[in-house]
Amino acid sequence: MAFARLLKGKDPARTPNTLARHLFSSYEQYRLDHLGPHNCNHTEITAAVHSVVASSRGLLDFQEAGKSLEGRSINLISCGKGNKRILLWSQMHGDEYTATLALMDILNMLVRRSSEEKWIHEMFDEATLYFLPMLNPDGAERRQRRTAQNIDMNRDARALITPEAQLLRNLQHRLKPQFGFNLHDQELWAVGDTKEISAIALLAPALDHKRSSPMVRVRAMRVAALITRVLAQFIPKNLATYDDAFEPRAFGDNMQLWGTSTVLVESGHWPGDRAKKFIRKLNFVGILTALRCIANGSYQDAELDLYKELPQNGKAIYDIIIRDVVLKHSLNGTSEWAQSVDIGLSIPVNTNPDPVVVTVKDIGDLSTYATLETINGNKRSIASSLLTLEQEIPLSGLLNALQLYHR
Ligand SMILES: [Zn+2]
Repeated sequence: MAFARLLKGKDPARTPNTLARHLFSSYEQYRLDHLGPHNCNHTEITAAVHSVVASSRGLLDFQEAGKSLEGRSINLISCGKGNKRILLWSQMHGDEYTATLALMDILNMLVRRSSEEKWIHEMFDEATLYFLPMLNPDGAERRQRRTAQNIDMNRDARALITPEAQLLRNLQHRLKPQFGFNLHDQELWAVGDTKEISAIALLAPALDHKRSSPMVRVRAMRVAALITRVLAQFIPKNLATYDDAFEPRAFGDNMQLWGTSTVLVESGHWPGDRAKKFIRKLNFVGILTALRCIANGSYQDAELDLYKELPQNGKAIYDIIIRDVVLKHSLNGTSEWAQSVDIGLSIPVNTNPDPVVVTVKDIGDLSTYATLETINGNKRSIASSLLTLEQEIPLSGLLNALQLYHR
């Protein structure tokens, strides 16, 4: 017994927190570096799926779960032989790449470390994992949220008019997973009323308007609490939750109704990380630790309060705030109003990194707003006629008008 305890002391997976730290510190060697948001499309991801399955010596199974409206394959990778079935799907919104990339990193890690790390073998004995990266390849191809025919798949769980939503529904019906992971990217939000950035938001969606908590939802809450506990080691101030109002057409809500305890994981943002590498790493650590703890049942030890006390996503954050600019407004061509203001800018999701295009979102006192990046306006002036709300302009053009030089 003492010897067993001694051995246990060397096991990196002896607690959820130690496993998460182990994964956090070793992540970079498993990251598939050739994949990023810039090439997270059907061709690249399918090639990576085939490559990792081929190198897995039978550990991973591949099947085509079906096809998108435009005929792109929707790929399903499975592993393990246990009776806890866990289904993970990503990118039902075509421009939400982070979790797809993290799932590929997870598959790579499992293949490369399964013969070295005992907890992986134990997990495969206890659970069967089903990975469905990129549920909306047609949207991914267009770098847009919606499907090819412009339907939001996450409002199609009830009507099931899109083939991709039908596929996910049928898969849930066929596999009957006890647990599900619904993986998305979110907008820029602050945590609650703080200026901290929401890096990861977790939700166990409601399954009725009363927001009741039957066991199927409580299990999802416990998984979310477990992820909160392990990720709080790295981002104690940057975890949030969503409003849990019931959305009868959304997949998370319906998955719970269909009996699958489902956690929504929303990938947020981090300063200086437009490619979201850090958020991808947090996905890798949080999801993989959760899979292991669902498999061996230890997720049940997570305190529900950890989840219930998460602050909600608060107010919007700007990508850039230019602080202390003098805004000039001409009055009938005879006199001029001039005052110091802040300018809040957002960077639309699908623009190329170079040149950076921004949208002017707000002008005025933005001192209560957080931002990923601050540019000091140095009291340089700009005419109000040059700033139109909601209009896209090149950042360099705006900075030139202000005679500001950026990096
Ligand atoms: Zn989404």
